[in-house]
Amino acid sequence: MTCLEPLALKPGVEDRPAIARERAQIARGLLTRCHFCAHHCGVNRLAGERGPCHAGAETRCFSAQVEVSDELEIIPCFAVALGGCDLRCDFCITGVSSWNAAVGASFDARAVAARAKQALEAGARTVMLLGGEPTIHLPAALAFVAEMPATAELVWKTNAHGSEDARALLAGMFNTWVADFKFGNDACAERLARVPDYVRVVQENLLWANEDSRLIVRHLLMPGHVECCWKPVAQWLAAELPGVKVNLRFGFWPAWHSRRHPELRQPPSAEECAQARRIARGLSLRLID
Ligand code: SF4
Repeated sequence: MTCLEPLALKPGVEDRPAIARERAQIARGLLTRCHFCAHHCGVNRLAGERGPCHAGAETRCFSAQVEVSDELEIIPCFAVALGGCDLRCDFCITGVSSWNAAVGASFDARAVAARAKQALEAGARTVMLLGGEPTIHLPAALAFVAEMPATAELVWKTNAHGSEDARALLAGMFNTWVADFKFGNDACAERLARVPDYVRVVQENLLWANEDSRLIVRHLLMPGHVECCWKPVAQWLAAELPGVKVNLRFGFWPAWHSRRHPELRQPPSAEECAQARRIARGLSLRLID
């Protein structure tokens, strides 16, 4: 479902702030019937209705600071975290903030952009928008892009569960997408994150993002999910996005509601980590740090 096909044209980089400003207005109007993510719930967020993300018209920010724990090629990074998410991953390491669209302070795009520009002048390499999930806050995210210099290196950190409308609004806006591919099958996605039709949606977004920007795919290795999740993710990446940068992450910690699932009550074992690496090597994936 989309009504935004013409926006899929990529802007020239010099036009990015102006186009982002226009799109922010369009995105604001679309809050009356929200289809930003693949839940497609169509609620009127301006009238107080809420979908699974629980986000309304306001965007709130729970962290805006320089960070150095992301991929080496994007750090130091000024990272802006917006509250609320459309997924419900029980193992979310930032569940308190990521599940709560009312957390933090009201987001002032111009003021946060001023801080981001200061960070760039002080040596930060990139500016990243993340969440929660930034896709549910497209009006604010695009307003932020409009305030940033056309030459700034902007990173979109996403769960890759956006809709066709979201992609049309985001086309050409970010230099790099850092996108999660968390689950290798729909049953695990439904059970652990309460999201249907996960694999198809994420694959569609990753293929698109690889055309639109530089793409880094992240997979957080979960204990007990090497065969059912990592292996099919790795096989698909090798077949459909050969050469794409993949960050296989071993830092799973049994946070938030992990205890609801017996296999998620501990970090992955050393053998599981070794097995995951063997799968990546066997498929010649381009692993990065
Ligand atoms: S962002 Fe997704 S979950 Fe939230 S209201 Fe829009 S379509 Fe629904």
